[in-house]
Amino acid sequence: MNYSRFITATSAARWPSPIRTTGEMGTEILGRAPKSLISLAPGMPNPSTFPFKSAVITAEDGITIRFEEETMNRALQYSQSAGIPELLSWLKQLQVKLHNPPTLNYPPDRGQMDICVTSGCQDGLCKAFEMIINPGDNILVNEPVYSGTLQALLPLGCNIINVASDEYGMIPASLKEILSQWKPEDAKNPKKNTPKLLYTVPNGNNPTGNSLTGERKKEIYELARKYDFLIIEDDPYYFVQFNKPWAPTFLSMDVDGRVIRADSFSKVLSSGLRVGFLTGPKPLIERIVLHIQVSSLHTSTFTQLMVYQLLHHWGEDGFLAHVDRVVHFYRNQRDAALAAADKWLSGLAEWHVPTAGMFLWIKVKGISDVKELIEEKAIKKEVLLVPGNGFYSNSSAPSPYLRASFSIVSPEQMDVAFQRLAELIKESLEEN
Ligand code: PMP
Repeated sequence: MNYSRFITATSAARWPSPIRTTGEMGTEILGRAPKSLISLAPGMPNPSTFPFKSAVITAEDGITIRFEEETMNRALQYSQSAGIPELLSWLKQLQVKLHNPPTLNYPPDRGQMDICVTSGCQDGLCKAFEMIINPGDNILVNEPVYSGTLQALLPLGCNIINVASDEYGMIPASLKEILSQWKPEDAKNPKKNTPKLLYTVPNGNNPTGNSLTGERKKEIYELARKYDFLIIEDDPYYFVQFNKPWAPTFLSMDVDGRVIRADSFSKVLSSGLRVGFLTGPKPLIERIVLHIQVSSLHTSTFTQLMVYQLLHHWGEDGFLAHVDRVVHFYRNQRDAALAAADKWLSGLAEWHVPTAGMFLWIKVKGISDVKELIEEKAIKKEVLLVPGNGFYSNSSAPSPYLRASFSIVSPEQMDVAFQRLAELIKESLEEN
């Protein structure tokens, strides 16, 4: 892979911060150095001046995470931009177990698998887009698209190309058709502006709840190889898949080192802790870490240590057992949402059964644009949903879709909410 094509001039111009590098090296050297070594290198504040002294965090099943003086001092201190080493190595083992990436032992410059911790996967995605995209670049997505991605992509001035999708995600035949306007060798000629990147949410897509099949992923990956583009696999609902076996990921197929995978603990450990991670080829992850060095410096050391201690205590099997419990909860929530939808919305709307995630994507029949219905009338009926418009690059285009989230409300509330929505739709149809 020639990665230079995928790195903007801004990203290419980033260089390692001398302070951070010395600081990070310093931490490493100090760990090995004799106690008599005096280091004037780190520009860290002195933790003895910090007001927080210790913490005890109780987790489920009687697990206790302790921040005694030494750990607390570390938790309150600056740390490595790529993430704290013990969390990184835990995550690396997890990725190897779950995805067995072919790039694991490639030479670094040939796309060896690398990982960095990000402040939620949103942070990683935003930095990946900024690393890759120049104004005018062609980017492949399947609309509707997670609005947080559109908000990050559109200001970069790229040209969004929509690939058709259905309940099994992006349709490879549609992608093939779009790509047929180029020849594979065009990727070597910048003037031809071949797509640089395909972005997709392969599981429990936000907002549709759809998941991409393994077969389709293979076809898409082969097209990525043929036309030489990168794939961003934004997979925060990977751990909220309702059916086993889980479909193989793009990362597991990545023989070239062209996949950047965004994972998140937001849906299974906590969204407020802001811990996610990117896995991808070293030459690209390195660029993203340089961006982290000049933006947040690193994801909170405290939350990384908190997450690491829990994961270490659990081990991989314990973590996956927790994931099973989370899946069980959301599957019940999904089933309650489907039951309520069947009861109240049959005949008024259409939807697919979500195979992962937290969303039901509802198409209202007979109303071409639901924006006004939701933004002006739904609140008076005491029910809130998200109108579909915001999930398209052209947000002013009419949309008959609504996104209903089944993550927070009780099955009883879900039932009442869909009853209210049904009344609203009926009233609106009668008015028109
Ligand atoms: N991608 C998608 C598709 C999402 O739905 C979300 C969360 N709403 C994110 C990324 C961001 O997740 P995180 O909390 O890990 O930043």
